[in-house]
Amino acid sequence: MSDKYDVVVIGAGPGGYVAAIRAAQLGLKTACVEKGQNKEGKPTYGGTCLNVGCIPSKALLEASHKYAETQHDFAELGIEVSDVQMNVKKMIAHKDSIVSKLTQGVGGLLKANGVTALHGSGKVLSGKKVEVTAQDGSVQVVEAENIIIASGSVPVEIPPAPLTEGLIVDSTGALEFEEVPGRLGVIGGGVIGLELGSVWSRLGSEVTVLEAQDTFLASTDQEIAKAAKKVLSKQGLNIQIGARVTGTEVKGNEVVVTYTDAKGEQQQTFDKLIVCVGRRPYTEALLSNDCGVTLDERGFIYVDDHCRTSVPGVYAIGDVVRGPMLAHKASEEGMTVADLIAGHKAEMNYDVIPGVIYTFPEIASVGKTEEEVKAEGVEYETGTFPFQAIGRAMTNGCTDGMVKIITEKASDRILGMHIMGQNAGEMIHQGVIAMEFGSSAEDLALMCFAHPTLSEAVHEAALAVDGHAIHMPNRKKRK
Ligand code: FAD
Ligand code: NAD
Repeated sequence: MSDKYDVVVIGAGPGGYVAAIRAAQLGLKTACVEKGQNKEGKPTYGGTCLNVGCIPSKALLEASHKYAETQHDFAELGIEVSDVQMNVKKMIAHKDSIVSKLTQGVGGLLKANGVTALHGSGKVLSGKKVEVTAQDGSVQVVEAENIIIASGSVPVEIPPAPLTEGLIVDSTGALEFEEVPGRLGVIGGGVIGLELGSVWSRLGSEVTVLEAQDTFLASTDQEIAKAAKKVLSKQGLNIQIGARVTGTEVKGNEVVVTYTDAKGEQQQTFDKLIVCVGRRPYTEALLSNDCGVTLDERGFIYVDDHCRTSVPGVYAIGDVVRGPMLAHKASEEGMTVADLIAGHKAEMNYDVIPGVIYTFPEIASVGKTEEEVKAEGVEYETGTFPFQAIGRAMTNGCTDGMVKIITEKASDRILGMHIMGQNAGEMIHQGVIAMEFGSSAEDLALMCFAHPTLSEAVHEAALAVDGHAIHMPNRKKRK
C-alpha cells in the first residue's frame, strides 16, 4: 500500500526545501524526497547551495578576503601586521562546520514544519506517483495530488578537460584544496571562475582565467564589466578573453592546457585546473518513460510561467527549469508553486531577480543592462555615480566601482540598477524594492539617505539621471 500526500517534493535544495516548508505551512500534507548524503554518509539537505555552492564558496571568499586585507590594505590604515599565516586546513574546516550547521538546520526546519523527509532517489511515475529508492535498495511508492520537481543542476563537463582526481576539478573540488596551488588555471570566466579564482589568488596562487567569449561577463552591463575586469586584473587575476580550451594533458603533478586565442594555439602549465563552464539541469533517473513530463531542447524540464510542466499537478522549479541558476530564484519559485497548489493567487516576477558576483568589490545587478534596453529600442537615460566621490567608501578603503541606474526616458521608471562596489550585494536590494514598487529615479532622488553610507551612491546616481548629482560635476545638462 502506498502513502498519499497532497504534495511530494523531489529535491531538498533551496527550491525544494522552501517549497516543502511553505506547502506544509499552508496546511498541505507534504513529503520531501532527497538523496544527498554528507561526507559521513548521513542524509543532507540544502542541495548545491548549502553543501557545495553559495555558502561554502562564500565562507572561503570571506576568509581569503580577510587574509588579503592583512597583506595589502592594513598598512595604509596604520595597522602593522607581520608574520600572518594562512592555515588552509582550518579555513576548510571552518567552511565545513558552517555547511554542517546549515544543512542539519534545514533538516530540523522540515521536521518542525511537519514535512515528512524521505531519504532516497525519487522518480516520477505516471499517475502522479513517486518511486523512492533508498540507499539500501529498498523501494517505496508514494502517491501525490501534486508533485514539485526541484532536482537542481550539476557542473557541465567538457571533453577537452576531463576531471582528474586532485588535478582537474570542478567547483566542488575547488572548495576542497588542502593547500594553495602554485599555478591555478580556471576554464570559464563566469561567476564561479571569478569567485573561486579570487579565493585562491588572494591566498597566493598565480591564477589564469581562460574565457572562451570575446566579451568579459557578457550578460553584465558592459560599463560595469569593463570596470570589473580592470579591478580584478589589478588584484592579480590574469583574465584572458577569447581563449577557448581545446585540450589538456596530465603530466605527473601538472596539467598542460592547450587553448586557442587571437594569436593561435597556446599552451600553459598549471598545478591545478578548475573547470567551471556552466551547469546543466539534473534529470538523471528522475522521470519514467511514461510519466508525461517533457524536457525542452536544452534538457531543462519544460514549464510555463507558473512552473507547470506538461502534466497537470506536476510542477518543476529552480535550476532544473529555464531562468537564472540562482538559489533565491529557486526559493521564490518554490514559494510561488506552493501558494498556487494551496489555491492562492501567486505570481513570480522574473524581471526583478537580483544577481551578485561575490568578488571584491562585489558586482550586483537587477533588471536590464544598458545593452539590453538599447537592443530593445527603448529610449532611456542613465545616471552613474562613482564610489571615488563617496566619503564612506574612502573611510572603508574601497573606492573602486560605481552605481548605475537605467530609466525609461518617458516615465523615469527604473529599468535596471547595476553596482560594483563593497557591499554591492546588499545595496542592490534598494534597486529590487524600487523596481518592485515601480519607482522612478526621482522617487529615489527625493528620499533621505543616511550619511555617511555607501548607499549615498544610489541616491547620487538617481540624482544624476537628470543631471542633479550634488557631489560631482554632472556629465549631462540639468533638466
Ligand atoms: P539544488 O540546490 O541543486 O538541489 C537539488 C537537490 O535535489 C539536491 O540536493 C539533489 O541531491 C536532489 N536530487 C536531485 N535529483 C534527485 C532525485 N531524483 N531524488 C532525490 N533527490 C534528488 N546561487 C546564488 O544564488 N548565490 C550564490 O552565491 C551562488 N553560489 C554558488 C556557488 C557555487 C560554487 C555553485 C556550484 C553554485 C552557486 N549558486 C549560487 C547556484 C545555486 O547553488 C543554485 O542555483 C541552487 O542551489 C539551485 O537550487 P535547486 O533547489 O534548484 O537545486
Ligand atoms: P557561467 O555560465 O557563469 O560561466 C561559464 C563561462 O565559461 C562562460 O563565460 C563561458 O563562456 C565559459 N566557457 C564555456 N566553455 C568554455 C571553454 N571551452 N573554454 C573557456 N571558457 C568556456 O557558469 P559557472 O561560472 O560555471 O556557474 C554556473 C552557474 O552557477 C551560473 O549560472 C550561476 O548562476 C551559478 N552561480 C551563481 C553564483 C552567484 O550567484 N554568486 C556563484 C556561483 C555560481
